[in-house]
Amino acid sequence: MPSSSKDYYQILGVGRNASEEEIKKSYRQLALKYHPDRNPGNKAAEDKFKEASEAYEVLRDAEKRRLYDQYGHDGLRDSGFTGFRDFGDIFGAFGDIFEDLFGFRDVRRPRSAAQAGSDRRYDLEIGFLEAVQGAEVTVEIPRNVNCTTCHGSGVRPGSRKTICPACGGRGQVIQTHGFLRISTTCSRCQGVGEFISDPCSICSGRGRVVEKKKLAVKIPPGVDNGVHLVMAGEGDEGILGGPPGDLYIVVHVRPHEFFRRSGNDLVLTLPISFTQAALGGVVAIPTLNGKRDFTIPPGTQPGDVINLKGEGVPHLKGFGKGDLRVEIKVVVPRKLTDRQRELLKKFAADEEPLQSFQKSPPAKGWLEKAWDFISSLTK
Ligand SMILES: [Zn+2]
Ligand SMILES: [Zn+2]
Repeated sequence: MPSSSKDYYQILGVGRNASEEEIKKSYRQLALKYHPDRNPGNKAAEDKFKEASEAYEVLRDAEKRRLYDQYGHDGLRDSGFTGFRDFGDIFGAFGDIFEDLFGFRDVRRPRSAAQAGSDRRYDLEIGFLEAVQGAEVTVEIPRNVNCTTCHGSGVRPGSRKTICPACGGRGQVIQTHGFLRISTTCSRCQGVGEFISDPCSICSGRGRVVEKKKLAVKIPPGVDNGVHLVMAGEGDEGILGGPPGDLYIVVHVRPHEFFRRSGNDLVLTLPISFTQAALGGVVAIPTLNGKRDFTIPPGTQPGDVINLKGEGVPHLKGFGKGDLRVEIKVVVPRKLTDRQRELLKKFAADEEPLQSFQKSPPAKGWLEKAWDFISSLTK
């Protein structure tokens, strides 16, 4: 409901035949004088400001002015004119005037500005050998591109955008909390200031559609888990001529049955029997270059690592390769045949005991120290 019952022409201090220009000029002067930013907490100024704004709202509009001239306040009531609820409404409706008044524009106006496309991330899983040796894989990347039907406008061809009714095209609405004026992005138009009443059916008014693009991705030899491959310009398409974003391909490497990575070194765990460890020997092992013979030196211990130079992973940047580290795992048999048990018993009878806490005096080395330790406990 219009809050004022006063005469709108009197409020603005203009004659009945005032031109649009005069009315605007007068309102600007009053708005400047009673603007809440300049009169914080002043209730009288607030009322004057609202009153003037309501008068201006009516008299600037030819149809409302005609109704008012002819029927007064009653005529407006029947027209559905509701006046303003708060300052936010007023700033929303007359935003342009206030921008002029205070000589600044605090409004984001992205609608005419070119905007770069967003970067995109794509998680790519590749095999262990593909990562080590390099590969070329074809992927389908979804990305946002401008709708070709509406050329990115979001409007059905043949119709037009309208100014957002909620914010008057400013993209911002101003809410007043006591002395504070808080400017927030208009929720109706998401800050764009325009409103699409007849949206493009292809993109549902977004102006953008998701397109899948096939890309050949070159995987350089030596990539590892978590490496980002950047493909410039393969992200989302830019808006209004803005540059496209980039595509970040994040590499995930599937584990391998035999090998694992340690930087540029390859690690191979090689299970050997305890007799192979003791006696030494030659076994075949897998490498990146195929099968090769591997010599186990006699007396090899569990956990020993034997380095094969240059049999590892190529350096991602630069030349050369890492090593192949063969980690020895000695496997003790869980079951023995009768013959094996006999042989091992004979072997054991001939073996120097490694450790025994029953025999005394202690033999040497490790055991001597162990005895010292035990006697120190009993002291
Ligand atoms: Zn469209
Ligand atoms: Zn809006």
